[in-house]
Amino acid sequence: MSVTVCEHHGKVGADQICSHLAANRIDVSPLKLKVIRCIQVVMDDDSTERMRLSLFYCGKCVEEYGFPSENSEISDQRFNDMERIGPFTGVCYLCFRNLYNL
Ligand SMILES: [Zn+2]
Ligand SMILES: [Zn+2]
Repeated sequence: MSVTVCEHHGKVGADQICSHLAANRIDVSPLKLKVIRCIQVVMDDDSTERMRLSLFYCGKCVEEYGFPSENSEISDQRFNDMERIGPFTGVCYLCFRNLYNL
């Protein structure tokens, strides 16, 4: 999880959300919100740490980028591809999840 500075919460972790959700945070129904996750494995010298990362996007992204239309888990590779081609931006995870009751 990357880090961002929120005017309400200070220095916090950032969720990756699509530009549509970022622009219409008030108008987009939670029912239209798609959440996709994958597990990335970070190798350390003597330990293996598993990290769960998420991308949040809307129905418009499903149409425009061919993203999965249901919540799902995907591979590292697919996750990285989606993050690269999608219009993702980092926002305060507390503000975002409060808004959508995640
Ligand atoms: Zn979108
Ligand atoms: Zn916040």
